[in-house]
Amino acid sequence: MSALESDWPALPAQAAWVDALAAPVMLVVGGRLRYVNAAMVSLLKADSQRALVGRNVRDFIHPLDAHRIVARIQRAEAGAGVNPPTTMRAFDCLGGELTLAVTSAPVDCGGETGVLATCLDMSRRAAMEQRLRRTDEDFRRIMDTMQDVFYRTDAQGITRYVCPAVKKVLGYTAEEIIGLPAAAFYPDPAERDALVAAIREQGFVQDFPGRMRRKDGVIIDISISTQALRDEQGEYAGVEGIWRDISERKAMERELERLATRDHLTGLFGRRRILELLDEELERRRGRPSHAPLSILLLDLDHFKQVNDSFGHAAGDEVLRQFAQSVQQSRRGDDPFGRLGGEEFLLVLQGADAAAAPQMAERIRAAIEATAFRVAQGAVVRLTVSIGWTHAVAQDRQAGDVLERADRALYEAKRSGRNRVAPGG
Ligand code: GH3
Ligand code: MG
Ligand code: MG
Repeated sequence: MSALESDWPALPAQAAWVDALAAPVMLVVGGRLRYVNAAMVSLLKADSQRALVGRNVRDFIHPLDAHRIVARIQRAEAGAGVNPPTTMRAFDCLGGELTLAVTSAPVDCGGETGVLATCLDMSRRAAMEQRLRRTDEDFRRIMDTMQDVFYRTDAQGITRYVCPAVKKVLGYTAEEIIGLPAAAFYPDPAERDALVAAIREQGFVQDFPGRMRRKDGVIIDISISTQALRDEQGEYAGVEGIWRDISERKAMERELERLATRDHLTGLFGRRRILELLDEELERRRGRPSHAPLSILLLDLDHFKQVNDSFGHAAGDEVLRQFAQSVQQSRRGDDPFGRLGGEEFLLVLQGADAAAAPQMAERIRAAIEATAFRVAQGAVVRLTVSIGWTHAVAQDRQAGDVLERADRALYEAKRSGRNRVAPGG
């Protein structure tokens, strides 16, 4: 005789093993609880087994599941065999809601057919699944609306996730990218290697500069903030983070930099930049007398005020532009050339000694004298330039030192009749 067939409520000693079972078990006969084990008492938050025995099983079933569950019990009692597992909502004795996974089978209870059911408490899992679902939905909503690109790769650098925003930025859909190496979208794979190395070393990077190639081939500037992913063993498992397209910002920065260093009328270096370049040249030569010689030419247009007076300011501007172009073409290689202001210019001659500098100055002077500057309405402007030149010496510390000598030379060129080249000290 099995423990379950015994006369309830006196439980025979053999019932002890069902009682000791960790899984909650109940025996239902005629729709009422005939037996519950200790785990079931605990699951239903009852005071004792006796408090449950005799109760209608419906008391514990959620109304929305009652019809279905009672039908299962009746089917089993009618001899339809084992009921497959199902999930149901139930109440405990304190009114708390439970989610249970239940399997049940008919058993013979001394002539009557009962239904023996085991339950698995799924409440926490159900709550967790719901939370996960909600988190998942939140994540999806954020990903769908975000402008930056969120991505995740595995340890091999294969893209495992990228949010839909990538289509707008790179032109590829997320589906086209997922499964491919992230490096495939970098114009220079070494740049991705540098990124990964930085992440592996510090665990993360913030506003890391990079570039990517769009589907249409255009290279864009990006800024990446990413962290390393670790698996349960603490091993590197890939990266996860966000990058954004900063091409517009970069283009603006480049334009600002250009505006800050370039003279916008002539496109030459502006005053600040050309003096900086001269300073750098002097710095490079400091304490190294054997270094290649350095000379400068200071150029000032003669009677330029008259050009403005006779042809107008716009024509004057045009002449300045053409003059700048003409000197650009006469100079050698990358010799820095800039506009100091007004109609005054500075040409830095790298490697030019005391013989080469005046030759170059003379060539420019003669070229300008021979040039017919064509301005608006067919007018032709002729003018000349005076040039003071000097040679850098070991005592020259900064641009001002060399410029001062060149300025004196320029003054001398003007004084002695203009359209001249004069040496300084
Ligand atoms: P000098 O032979 O002694 O150098 O005579 P100058 O007339 O060239 O000398 P001055 O320095 O007295 O005059 C320079 C003139 O250059 C005055 C100014 O109106 C003109 N100028 C300066 N900057 C610009 C510019 O950007 N555009 C135009 N059109 N004229 C300018
Ligand atoms: Mg002048
Ligand atoms: Mg002047």
